Amino acid sequence: MSKQTAVDVPLVAPSLSETAKQRVRAVLDSGDLAAGEVVRQFEREFADFVGTDHAVATNNGTTALHAALAGLEIGAGDTVVTTPFSFIATANAIRLAGADPVFADVDLQTANIHPDAVERTIAAHDGDIDAIMPVHLYGCPAEMDRLRELAADHDAVLIEDAAQAHGARYGGDHVGAIGDAGCFSFYPTKNMTTGEGGMVVTDDAEVARRARSFINHGRAPDDGATHERVGHNFRLPNIAAAIGRVQLQRLPDFVAARRDNAAALTDALAATDIAAPVEPDDSYHSYHQYTVRTDDRDALQASLDDFGIGTGVYYPTPIHRQPAYDDQTVDAPAAERLADTVLSLPVHPHLSDSELSAVTTGIDYVTG
Ligand SMILES: *Cc1c(COP(=O)(O)O)cnc(C)c1O
Repeated sequence: MSKQTAVDVPLVAPSLSETAKQRVRAVLDSGDLAAGEVVRQFEREFADFVGTDHAVATNNGTTALHAALAGLEIGAGDTVVTTPFSFIATANAIRLAGADPVFADVDLQTANIHPDAVERTIAAHDGDIDAIMPVHLYGCPAEMDRLRELAADHDAVLIEDAAQAHGARYGGDHVGAIGDAGCFSFYPTKNMTTGEGGMVVTDDAEVARRARSFINHGRAPDDGATHERVGHNFRLPNIAAAIGRVQLQRLPDFVAARRDNAAALTDALAATDIAAPVEPDDSYHSYHQYTVRTDDRDALQASLDDFGIGTGVYYPTPIHRQPAYDDQTVDAPAAERLADTVLSLPVHPHLSDSELSAVTTGIDYVTG
């Protein structure tokens, strides 16, 4: 069907400033392209931003998760409780670390792992779990207080997948800085980018040391010829870190703009029966995605597409229903319901006023 309007509002639009381009140019001119001083600076600045003592840059968010697991010595024979409603990288990292992901259902309202479901899942494993890995999905902080208690009660570590939640806060704390380790992704669709990239943050010097060694062929910290463990090459290059340092400066403004856009969308939805996303008490949602719920999801998506408004479904299939996992024993009705009803609308920080009003007008028209 042909577009009814001339609008074309993309779901995502990464933006690189002139400063970032100059900084990349400077790295290219330096000839120091791989991991080096620029990466160290980016790590220090990122750790300062989230409020942790340590940060270890990696070449993407998946390898950040893998390195955090290695840093916390979670591997073969270990059980990690996680959400079935996430990007598949969450579960893949657990599997690739040699551990077994077990899926606990989510909360229908926030789409985040539900502490009650985590408790049931732990009980079903006779209390014998090694880690809990919540995801702050769409930039909405998970219920960290209860998850931290559950982890402590069962002598398990808590690893935050904050790949979608740069700049989000829970209570006064940045997400990623609450558990034993936190992981971020800098893929271009995320709240800040380095092209490809990731970061592990932690307050634990030993965890940081092991993660850093793991991403660098298992090298000893100050002795490149000694390999203490089997490791990978998951290093971030200086070129990417140069972009990341500038993006990090802009992140608070990006998140503020996302929140303003989200507020406008929530206003537009108030008169409809589409469920707007919620911001839990004491949380600062970073709106990586603005994700609504409606039984008429496919129709809404098609209508908005006719209006030239880009939307996305994150995620149409829960992880335990993917062929790579295919676990029929998982009881996750909320995750399955969400997979059928969620739709993400444009909320990115570079939406112009006219694009934003095109989205709200489109919603009014489609639902009116
Ligand atoms: C993007 C993402 C990842 C993986 O990050 P990459 O940089 O793409 O490897 C992990 N978990 C979640 C929840 C993500 O959204």
